Amino acid sequence: KGKKDKRGGISYYSDELTELAKKHIELATRLRRAIEHSEFELYYQPQVHIKSKRIVGAEALIRWNDPIHGLISPNDFIPLAEETGLIGAIGEWVIRDACRQGKLWIDKGYNLSISVNVSANQLRHQNITRLIDSTLKETGFTADKLVIELTESAVMQREEEAVAMLHAIRAKGIRLAIDDFGTGYSSYSYLKRFPIDILKIDKSFIDEVPFENDDMAIVKAIIAMGSALGYKILAEGTEHIEQIDFLEEHGCQYYQGYYKSKPLKTSEFEKLLL
Ligand code: C2E
Ligand code: MG
Ligand code: MG
Ligand code: MG
Repeated sequence: KGKKDKRGGISYYSDELTELAKKHIELATRLRRAIEHSEFELYYQPQVHIKSKRIVGAEALIRWNDPIHGLISPNDFIPLAEETGLIGAIGEWVIRDACRQGKLWIDKGYNLSISVNVSANQLRHQNITRLIDSTLKETGFTADKLVIELTESAVMQREEEAVAMLHAIRAKGIRLAIDDFGTGYSSYSYLKRFPIDILKIDKSFIDEVPFENDDMAIVKAIIAMGSALGYKILAEGTEHIEQIDFLEEHGCQYYQGYYKSKPLKTSEFEKLLL
């Protein structure tokens, strides 16, 4: 039975706890091996400039090719990677590989920016500024083509340190995007303090546009406020032309979503560019 633990909280049923712990340890072990065996791959999803319909960027999204379970989505392993500290090594690989690919595409004549997701723990434990510096040098990719995506919660933790770090990153010419905007604190005070370039409106607000009045009001408000503060606005999870028409009409410059394309392997992404 569930019983009170010494700190006054309710603990899990002990057999469930054992099961859960076992699963976690198993997954963590496989994850550790995955790093050594290079089982990760970056997929790229196009970011589209609405007015010109041109692909102006690509977001790198990690996939895990597990030899037993096949392709595993980041939602199923990034949280565990964060808990176990493995996110450090994974995140380092992500930035390296994304910049390497970005450089290849620039050399082929594609004028693309590359967006990379950086998680809260990575921001806290890794010297991200130094890592980015050495990666740009190593790969020859340029700072002005790199975008770092952070969630609101990532920057709200240890706020002062985070703000200093964001300023340092941005001083190099790298752009910063707030991911999943609207799902976290969405506090106006941090928008004022954080050196942000791009707001990415979370998919959940876009889904029912232009049919749900509350969502339409929220999306319009985010676009208006973000634009007034000088940010570029990108709508995530855009699947239908009606959404894009609404976004364009209200001043949103970019979208990302299945309407253009799912995240793709690099070879498929290149076909889309042609
Ligand atoms: P995110 O950064 O907000 O990425 C957007 C997610 O929405 C992606 O899921 C993408 O495939 C999905 N998506 C985009 N357009 C549409 C659409 O039109 N419809 C639908 N239904 N979905 C759409 P994905 O690739 O599974 O990634 C999930 C999350 O995992 C990401 O959310 C990000 O938070 C995290 N993630 C992915 N790659 C990395 C990484 O390299 N490092 C870290 N730290 N996190 C990552
Ligand atoms: Mg993202
Ligand atoms: Mg997002
Ligand atoms: Mg997300």
